[in-house]
Amino acid sequence: MDAMVAPPLDAARERLRQVFGFEDFRGVQPRVIERVLAGRSTLAVMPTGAGKSLTYQLPATMLEGTCVVVSPLIALMHDQLRSARANGIAAATLTSADADWRETMDAFRAGALDLLYVAPERASQPAFRDLLSSAPLALFAIDEAHCVSEWGHDFRPDYRQLRPLMDAFPHVPRLALTATADAHTRADIHAQLGIPEEGLIVAGFDRPNIRYAIRHRDTIVRQVAALMDEMPGPGIVYAPTRAKVERLAEQIAAATGRQVRPYHAGLDPDVRAGNQAAFVESEDMVIVATIAFGMGIDKPDVRFVAHAGVPKSIEAYYQETGRAGRDGDPAQAVMLWGASDFATARQRLAEVPEDRRPSERARLDALAGLVETAGCRRAVLLRHFGEHPPESCGNCDNCLDAPGVTDATELAQKLLSAAYRTGQSFGFGHLQKVLTGSPDERVVQRGHDTLSVFGIVGGEEARLLQPLARALQARGALVATEHGGLQLGGDAKAILKGERSVEIVVPPARERSRRRGRGGAEANPVGDPLFEALRALRRDLAKAAGLPPYVIFHDATLREMAALRPATRSALGEVQGVGAKKLEAYGDAFVEVIRAFADST
Ligand code: ADP
Ligand code: ZN
Repeated sequence: MDAMVAPPLDAARERLRQVFGFEDFRGVQPRVIERVLAGRSTLAVMPTGAGKSLTYQLPATMLEGTCVVVSPLIALMHDQLRSARANGIAAATLTSADADWRETMDAFRAGALDLLYVAPERASQPAFRDLLSSAPLALFAIDEAHCVSEWGHDFRPDYRQLRPLMDAFPHVPRLALTATADAHTRADIHAQLGIPEEGLIVAGFDRPNIRYAIRHRDTIVRQVAALMDEMPGPGIVYAPTRAKVERLAEQIAAATGRQVRPYHAGLDPDVRAGNQAAFVESEDMVIVATIAFGMGIDKPDVRFVAHAGVPKSIEAYYQETGRAGRDGDPAQAVMLWGASDFATARQRLAEVPEDRRPSERARLDALAGLVETAGCRRAVLLRHFGEHPPESCGNCDNCLDAPGVTDATELAQKLLSAAYRTGQSFGFGHLQKVLTGSPDERVVQRGHDTLSVFGIVGGEEARLLQPLARALQARGALVATEHGGLQLGGDAKAILKGERSVEIVVPPARERSRRRGRGGAEANPVGDPLFEALRALRRDLAKAAGLPPYVIFHDATLREMAALRPATRSALGEVQGVGAKKLEAYGDAFVEVIRAFADST
């Protein structure tokens, strides 16, 4: 055996340390990189935050020639460009927003670029094909590759031009990357981009650092404020409408005194872009937004994503919550839901064309299942995506604090018959009065005190009525009309006949402490003077360079510095996330702060 020739993966690992300052690969990264280095075309399906960009950026620094990266959004490309350059990788973008395209083309022709980012529109231009013929190519990397598929909602016709372009360079391997798991889209990508079936690598979809929690929405401002208190970094709150975005942003700002900004399609474009840019650069801002916000935002240090209402589907929920914790640090995803969310969604079903109704209903039922489960949230999510997760994850609300489950079939029958016997036109408040035997004026007036269901619920059971009504609405057995009356729907008849049972999650007597389970150990030591001093330095450097702070160093890197207190440049180089280029650029400044701190304590 020739000891001088290192296997490619060892060399890649060495590079990983040198250039990125990371200790080792994560998940499927080594499998993808090994294929890329061997020149084999690959489709990598990896969830958000799994580290897709590294799988082409790293080989690009090792392979002869330039890696051409196709990406659908200019903002995404520029984000990547900044990060790559900060690590000393020779990278450039060729987009309509760039003024330096001549320099870029010269650099490419001279073989001086590791990475060339382009928008898909360029792929079909003959001039671009000519340009690519003028220097050696290492790889085609196609980011957000699901855009090639008409199946999803991100279809970009220009992606269809990539195949003819790449076919003109048959010896250049292709790497398609996406976070979209569904099989249909995947098959499309194989076919449309010419990647063999055997080139598929699928990472697990779990995001272990995200803690999921789903709660009933009662005092939304206080609930969000508590979350902000627990997770002091940047966060996103999704609200369903523009009006709610505006109102919630104001209320949260007033309640917490924190920097909070709104984002929705109705804002003046400059204001909107300004709010997004401020958020990307901030270390503690909260943005309240409609779901228009998020696509193309690569901020790694988002500490929480809150939903102020139920999302559209489990897929949408997973994508939206996936924006939290891309840096791998602890993050939280909290959904705050109300029965009215489901009422609205189920009313809308009537407006959907008949042929699509069953699938839309299934989508809602799946969401209701997630909301109503007493089991592990992560398990429900991962099973939805076709995985076989363990029964318990230890990092969701139900795993950390197991709720009680009660068979409420009999009580459900009482509630449903009360709705039925009062003519299916009264809201929950009225039904509750009838069932608990409250001789309210309206109850007596309507003669509802003479019904057989009057006063048949008492004691402990009465406490379960409200969560039961919510659960029945979530599953569609009770449907709120526009006038607020509750009608029977879904499987109500089967429940009344005793053919279906109803289990509900029993709410804790009062909200229990949420500061439990893991997460504390790795969280930022906010308030630790050294950590704060390092953060301040990072802010200054970021400002001077016109970069978001996380491009300089991630929080995890600052945390490790604060804990290890490396007092020399070479010791600092051992900290994860400190590559050669960053050590050179920022090393002295950070060592100085650490030394000054050691001297003063
Ligand atoms: P994706 O595009 O898959 O959502 P990114 O490429 O943006 O993910 O990477 C997510 C984060 O993980 C980035 O901040 C990146 O620096 C970090 N990262 C990637 N690979 C590693 C690794 N092997 N070790 C440590 N951090 C990594
Ligand atoms: Zn769990």
